Amino acid sequence: MVELKADIVVIGAGIAGLWLHRRLNDLGYYTILLDRAGLGGGQTLSSQGIIHGGSKYTLSGMMTASASAISAMPDRWQRCMEAEGEIDLSGLRVLSANQFMWSTTALSSKLTSFFGSKAVNGKIQQLSPEHYPLAFQSKQNNGSLYRLNEAVVDVSSLVEQLSGKWRQRMLQLPQEYEFERNAQGLVAGLKVADKLQISASQFVLSSGEGNQSLLTELSMDKPKMQRRPLHMILAKGKNLPSIYAHCIGASTKPLATITTHYHSDGDPVWYIGGKLAEEGVDAAADDLIAEAETTLPRLLPWVDLNNVSWATHKINRAEPAQSRLLRPDTAYVNSVGNVHIAWPTKLALAPDLVDRFEIELAEQNIQPDSGLNHQQIDQAMPAEFAATQAENLWERSFHGVR
Ligand SMILES: Cc1cc2nc3c(=O)[nH]c(=O)nc-3n(C[C@H](O)[C@H](O)[C@H](O)COP(=O)(O)OP(=O)(O)OC[C@H]3O[C@@H](n4cnc5c(N)ncnc54)[C@H](O)[C@@H]3O)c2cc1C
Repeated sequence: MVELKADIVVIGAGIAGLWLHRRLNDLGYYTILLDRAGLGGGQTLSSQGIIHGGSKYTLSGMMTASASAISAMPDRWQRCMEAEGEIDLSGLRVLSANQFMWSTTALSSKLTSFFGSKAVNGKIQQLSPEHYPLAFQSKQNNGSLYRLNEAVVDVSSLVEQLSGKWRQRMLQLPQEYEFERNAQGLVAGLKVADKLQISASQFVLSSGEGNQSLLTELSMDKPKMQRRPLHMILAKGKNLPSIYAHCIGASTKPLATITTHYHSDGDPVWYIGGKLAEEGVDAAADDLIAEAETTLPRLLPWVDLNNVSWATHKINRAEPAQSRLLRPDTAYVNSVGNVHIAWPTKLALAPDLVDRFEIELAEQNIQPDSGLNHQQIDQAMPAEFAATQAENLWERSFHGVR
């Protein structure tokens, strides 16, 4: 039996667990990250990689005061990408420096004046046609294009960047594990059959949708979780142009949010969310694809969608429960004893989540245990449970499709 002792065990290696693990080890806490599957393989590698600053919520008038957390995120990430933030993400692959907002028709005067208003605060700029990105430079295009101050990143490269430095302190536990409690009833550790036992003073649940069953296992009935399902659409084709845009039609809610990613065979893959994915939740894959084949040519009539392969992907967003299943505005951390339950609620909000956890550590005066010999623990990490990165969605969706 390998026995390990850590300051903190983080369970779940999506963006929340990866960002936390990186930061906590940098701060001197010996932190072990556990996942039952590959790193990033939950919502994180299913996300579009948009570093949201809240512009799309401003548009639909849903921006609230607490949403200032999200509006600070693009600059925060930018500093990391310039190696000046709390984590060095200078090697991160950026797919597009900006997300765009695309309207097929001239917008209503109400919306146009809204874009020029203080609420938007220089974060959305209308472009004149000579400044359009290549994908929008068509004579058939007579709508309006706005540039948002939000980058789109390659999430697979993000997982690689975050997991590189402390990879040795990450373990993949495909088998069942059991929690252990101490005499005071606090969680003290976990055990994998007679192979591995890990003890720690703090435990973070950052398992996305998996937090629900972890809470049940720990007999905790709070906090409650909500799921908001999506049925995303994927299109793969050699001639697809690189588009990073919320296509809003003439409404305020994106009909389709398109980001472009790359399959290992070099083909671009459009990953399509927005209203199509929200309203297509109960649709059969073929029906949703048929709907996309009708909607997209209306939004982007100059794009050739012949010779495109299609796929769909169903996935739930997992978040702390809100009234009326609304979208939460900020990251979430709630501590119950020495168990900390975390949901970032957006990829972009990972730094906000870590800020909240650091406040929790400071308030509870939780310091790194000076008795831990970090080098010795590193050497004891069992190679049998070494963590690997999960496969990209583009590969999973189009195995052998050319
Ligand atoms: C289709 C889609 C598109 C999105 N696009 C964007 C976007 O463009 N921008 C943005 O900011 N946000 C986006 N989001 C939201 C964002 O992806 C999520 O908020 C974020 O990835 C959640 O991260 P997480 O770490 O909480 O969970 P996850 O990424 O789901 O990770 C949870 C991890 O926990 C592991 N796990 C589960 N149960 C257990 C267990 N019992 N023991 C051990 N490990 C376990 C899983 O294997 C997984 O690796 C999108 C979400 C979806 C679904």
